[in-house]
Amino acid sequence: MNPADGFTAETPFRFCPADGSPLGPPRPSGGATCPVCGRSFYRNPAPAVGAAILSGGKALVTVRAREPYRGKIDVPGGFVELGEHPVDALRREVREELGVEARVLWPPVMFAPHRYGDDGVHALAIGFRTEIVSGEPSPSDDVAEVLWTSLTDLDALDFAWEHDREFIRNALRQ
Ligand SMILES: [Zn+2]
Repeated sequence: MNPADGFTAETPFRFCPADGSPLGPPRPSGGATCPVCGRSFYRNPAPAVGAAILSGGKALVTVRAREPYRGKIDVPGGFVELGEHPVDALRREVREELGVEARVLWPPVMFAPHRYGDDGVHALAIGFRTEIVSGEPSPSDDVAEVLWTSLTDLDALDFAWEHDREFIRNALRQ
């Protein structure tokens, strides 16, 4: 039997990731405390940021180079690192994936809880309208290709996550 059988992204943590001790029973809030180091662990969503990069009435979207959802349409972005502001995270991701410097427009225009893959982590996507300030987009990292889409082309695209289609639609309409 696979020891991972029956464990999902919702199953409370059983062992302390810091010292490997068995955790106490989960509280109603979902947290479980380590009797050795005293830390509590929760099944929280992971914040992720995405860019609606706009230029001349079109928006830039990407083709995913990796699983999950390899080959499907995505927006530039990724997960926020420890201690990082979401705006800085998005500028970093856009630099890594497209090789351009971006200006991130405030405030965010999308908040979307979702799963990263069918049995993946729970993520909280935060979307920003964004403009390129220098450089030409050139795909790298986990991006296979970039496309510029208009409002009329949007419905034909095979998005990995439906909330990104609506994110791009709303950004193009503003
Ligand atoms: Zn511990």
